[in-house]
Amino acid sequence: MQTIDNFNFAGKKAIVRVDFNVPLDENGHITDDTRIRGALPTLKKILADGGSVIIMSHMGKPKKNPDMKYSLGQIVDAVSEKLGVKVQFAPDCMKADEAAAALKPGEVLMLENLRFYAEEEGKPRGEFATEEEKKAAKAAMKEPQKEFAKHLASYADCYVNDAFGTAHRKHASTALIADYFDADHKMLGYLMEKEVKAVDNVLSNIKRPFTAIMGGSKVSTKIGIIENLMDKVDNLILCGGMTYTFAKAQGGKIGSSICEDDKLDLALDIIAQAKAKGVNLVLGVDCVAGDAFSNEANTQIVPANNIPDGWEGMDAGPKTRELFANAIKGSKTILWNGPAGVFEFDNFTGGSRAIAEAIAEATKDGAFSLIGGGDSVACINKFGMADQVSYISTGGGALLEAIEGKVLPGIAAIKGE
Ligand code: AMP
Repeated sequence: MQTIDNFNFAGKKAIVRVDFNVPLDENGHITDDTRIRGALPTLKKILADGGSVIIMSHMGKPKKNPDMKYSLGQIVDAVSEKLGVKVQFAPDCMKADEAAAALKPGEVLMLENLRFYAEEEGKPRGEFATEEEKKAAKAAMKEPQKEFAKHLASYADCYVNDAFGTAHRKHASTALIADYFDADHKMLGYLMEKEVKAVDNVLSNIKRPFTAIMGGSKVSTKIGIIENLMDKVDNLILCGGMTYTFAKAQGGKIGSSICEDDKLDLALDIIAQAKAKGVNLVLGVDCVAGDAFSNEANTQIVPANNIPDGWEGMDAGPKTRELFANAIKGSKTILWNGPAGVFEFDNFTGGSRAIAEAIAEATKDGAFSLIGGGDSVACINKFGMADQVSYISTGGGALLEAIEGKVLPGIAAIKGE
């Protein structure tokens, strides 16, 4: 397999798939630039060799073309500043032929959001009366999607995939495009290489105890990884909104807390699986409940299984924080995905902060700690603790799928698998 270190980009045009799906505030300002910073080493290496760069990415989930709320034009200045090169912008990713052809060594062109075109994902837009119609529309997109990938490929001499965040998707720019370059002219970027190594570190070199902390809003979106981790970890901490599905499943009273009523059996099954496999499953015992889903809500500490009507669990309580911290400290491998509370509200960050602090302490004592998923990364950054953990992944879904042991299409396409 070709590697970025071995490839000399002098005089070459490289089309680089990055993940610049950065969070923006209502004024279009970047609130967390981790993903942009993550791609810089790859972009800089190409430019330093004397190559030129065509940057391509998606942002958000646009439903039409164009959908300016998701325009990458909003971040061109920030990318220019971080890269130290004035980045040109192509306002339509399918009409960049001339701009790409005119690129000189050292120059950078960024394409508008790839997902303005439905072909990027290969997912048809609009409403369909039946499943059959939807299937037929999807099948009809296969060829246009290949054409879309081929057109992108035509801009460049070589392809670099540095978008770990979307590596679990078989999209035009993350996988299909690789078909239009021979094995010597396609490679993973530095960020991808680092991410793959970090996952490898967790999977092939597990030092015990291994503690996984899964949080976030729902159990349904994390069930695959939770079941998979059950065979690997010593301690499994489940926190955040899913706490209340577990509490209700066990007969608890959860007020108006977030809950997936159709997942109660699943929650009981997870508890049973943990018992059968000897995994120490740690669930919240108390919580900070609020009387509204707001930072200004009145709060009280209550048992996680006895929340008064009209109140909802918004964060882990003090006893829970201690339980979590005790499980984390002393661990030698740690994986954290998903906050322990509604961390976007400053008054409900305490549980996530307790987790971050315990991870930092364990890391100082020699643990390998891997944090992934937009929200947990935003947490760590909010607490200013990014330098106190071993590795921060730019991937959420991709990281979890990689840890589940799945082959990511974005990586398979480069390896030619
Ligand atoms: P996810 O996208 O599933 O990883 O979930 C992340 C989201 O979960 C964040 O936006 C949190 O605000 C949210 N979250 C965490 N704890 C709770 C809770 N107790 N109630 C509601 N939402 C929560």
